[in-house]
Amino acid sequence: MQNRKKVNLVWFRNDLRVRDNQVLTNAMKSNMPVIALYAFDPRHFEETEYGFKKTEKFRAKFLIESVKCLQQKLKDLNIGLYTSTDTPEQALHQLQQDFEIEEIFFQKEWTSEEKKVQKNIENANPSIKLNSTYNQFLFHPEEIPFEDFTQIPEVFTQFRKACEKQGKVRAELPVPHAQDSSYFIDFKVKMPSLNDLGLDNFKVDSRSAFPFEGGEKSAWERLSNYFWETKKLQYYKKTRNGLLGTDYSSKFSAWLANGSISAVSIYHQVKKFEKEIKKNQDTYWLIFELIWRDYFKYISLKHGNSIFKLGGILNKDYKWNNHEKAFQQWINGQTPENFVNANMLELKQTGFMSNRGRQNVNSYWAKEWQQDWRKGAAYFEAMLIDYDVHSNWGNWMYNSGVGNDPRDRKFNIKRQAERYDSNGTYQRTWLQENLF
Ligand code: FAD
Repeated sequence: MQNRKKVNLVWFRNDLRVRDNQVLTNAMKSNMPVIALYAFDPRHFEETEYGFKKTEKFRAKFLIESVKCLQQKLKDLNIGLYTSTDTPEQALHQLQQDFEIEEIFFQKEWTSEEKKVQKNIENANPSIKLNSTYNQFLFHPEEIPFEDFTQIPEVFTQFRKACEKQGKVRAELPVPHAQDSSYFIDFKVKMPSLNDLGLDNFKVDSRSAFPFEGGEKSAWERLSNYFWETKKLQYYKKTRNGLLGTDYSSKFSAWLANGSISAVSIYHQVKKFEKEIKKNQDTYWLIFELIWRDYFKYISLKHGNSIFKLGGILNKDYKWNNHEKAFQQWINGQTPENFVNANMLELKQTGFMSNRGRQNVNSYWAKEWQQDWRKGAAYFEAMLIDYDVHSNWGNWMYNSGVGNDPRDRKFNIKRQAERYDSNGTYQRTWLQENLF
């Protein structure tokens, strides 16, 4: 342990970017050599109590690509990224064989699993200073018009209007200047493969609405294409309920979820588009949706672990069923509703489903069949490329009658299919091997 090099550490979590990254910016201001860590936490790839993995191959592939991209971007700043397939706690211990870490900079998380990891690190390393920062919001907690999280309204519209009127979106932070090249450390660790994470390789389905690669580079390429090359942002509100293809919506969710791009960056690009190309209801609506994303983060900050409980944040005492056969039918697209089936097959084959589809299959599972909504949410957690703890569990509660929907709606699946897939093209795309 002699002659260990003194450094500061950036521990990357769901903020896998160098542009508009407050955590990285803070670390680079610290006048110490900076190194970085990303741990592919094995706990994220274990089987859950429901009998499927916490993270399936779709998101794992996207994550590996994202971390590879981050490694390159950090190299340009002369920061070495150490990657590990151990837990962050163990990886940190490993790094300490060679480095004396003074301070760890990381994105602040508040959900219980994430907090536990932080606590473990804190307990095992009392001499290291921990510096955590909210790095994932559109409206930063210091810029919202509510005194504290208990004041967050239970109705989205109230939250949105207050933020739009009195909230502030921060300026975008630039990519920090590179540190001295002598600080660069080439850790020479191999990036894990899907197999290393206990998952199978696969070929992307040619029908996928989300055929994109992970990483900050491809996030910005997507934005550049959707905003500046095709200018499809100007039609967003009209197309956003689509079901097929890459362009009916922005597809930013997966990059936002692991932090390859920030909501603040997207916001400022929308403003630029409104100034330079067009400002209309459609351009506004993308920001409106980003406020939904913030909303579910604030709801989880307000309600803590209640978002994972059967009664949800309303503490509802509904009777829920738990039928394994129903679950198998639902996930394998074998229910009596072809619209549900098509969406569930899309999810199974690609790890993606449109917002319209998600609302319908959730409503069918929780309201039509009255099956334990948490099992549906956990299945989404496994499968979705864009899984985000707050958006997923918040939306699931909302559509299952235990969350923030003041109207507590149940979807009429047949009517939805007629409205959004009137000629059946979407259903045929996914049910081609099944009866239709
Ligand atoms: P766009 O329509 O282009 O919207 C732009 C961005 O706004 C999205 O990328 C997303 O960040 C945000 N957004 C849009 N709709 C919502 C919404 N309802 N709630 C929160 N944020 C929203 N989104 C996730 O990112 N991760 C999840 O795990 C997730 N699980 C969901 C589960 C259910 C049951 C439902 C009904 C919705 C879920 N959503 C989730 C929200 C939404 O379906 C996806 O964000 C959206 O379909 C992603 O496609 P997009 O990026 O093209 O969206």
